[in-house]
Amino acid sequence: MFERHARQVALPGIGPEGQDRLSRARAVIVGCGALGTTAADLLTRAGVGSIALIDRDVVEISNLQRQTLFNERDALLGRPKAEAAREALLRVAPTVSIDSHVADLTPMNALQLLASRTPGTSGMVGIDCTDNFETRYLINDACVSAGIPLIYGAAVGALGMNMTILPGQSACLRCVFEDPPRPGAAPTCETAGVLGPVAALVASRQAAEAIKLLTGAAAADPCLRSVDLWSNEERALDLRSLGPRADCPCCGQRRFAFLQGAHRTLSAVICTRDGGGVQIRPGSTGHATSAAPSPAPVTLEALAARLGDSGDFRVESGLLRGFLHYEQDDAGRALRLTVFPDLRAVIRGTDDIVRARAIYARYIGV
Ligand SMILES: [Zn+2]
Repeated sequence: MFERHARQVALPGIGPEGQDRLSRARAVIVGCGALGTTAADLLTRAGVGSIALIDRDVVEISNLQRQTLFNERDALLGRPKAEAAREALLRVAPTVSIDSHVADLTPMNALQLLASRTPGTSGMVGIDCTDNFETRYLINDACVSAGIPLIYGAAVGALGMNMTILPGQSACLRCVFEDPPRPGAAPTCETAGVLGPVAALVASRQAAEAIKLLTGAAAADPCLRSVDLWSNEERALDLRSLGPRADCPCCGQRRFAFLQGAHRTLSAVICTRDGGGVQIRPGSTGHATSAAPSPAPVTLEALAARLGDSGDFRVESGLLRGFLHYEQDDAGRALRLTVFPDLRAVIRGTDDIVRARAIYARYIGV
């Protein structure tokens, strides 16, 4: 096995001891999109002994532009991403222990999925490769409460962002961004697109951080880094003066509102009338704590314009309605989306709550 990792063992600070530490380490990767597949590929090849993959979605043809572990067959079969990724990784390194979870990360299962160790595991990291703020804040709560280092990454458009969180030692996500943006306020990859190379860059930095932390070869990056591959701008915000903050609700006060479900931004119910479907309702996000309801962060007209590439949408009688071309029911018919001015939405053509929440996160944004 030495030969497989020889070029990595040769690196300063790694050596046989570092490689051995990597082989006993576990990386929990939440999200198997562009970031997750690239990070999982790099870490499997690097020799991380145990990898967990968590993702609620299935492979679609539009994923293949950037999600490097999947192929056309996976998309045609609509295979769950976590399972297709696991199979691809085992073809690279059959002895790696990989557990895949086709699941929505929720306050109910977050600690169990993020913090559980396999026998013989020593070092652990969580890697946030998700595409929505609701899950990101939940992962931050879970990792800080369990004392697990967390490596954050995000990519949308040509923009990428990286941050490494060492619980109790460095700023957490809430030290820097105390509350998530309101649903609909931030662009998503579905509506703004995403450049494959920026996702690969962010995921490469995440994998490098994981290798540094798990081998002990080098110190974690103390900066929040952002990069724009179109404008060629790069920024680094030194986080050492920003945290851990004593007044941070998460790492300072250890109030884990997202983990306790008190901060859940979306609630979903199956509709029993008017042809079924799933209704998604954006809930409290920390911004909506005053008595007066806060205005929706986007208008339906702006949302209709944003959804233009994803289907036919129009605003009529105060409602946004249309069909999502790339989201279909079992008979291949496009799902119908209706959005109300308060950003409540009904998705018809499915009664799958997990899928409906994922669609809301991708097209409206949470
Ligand atoms: Zn904090």
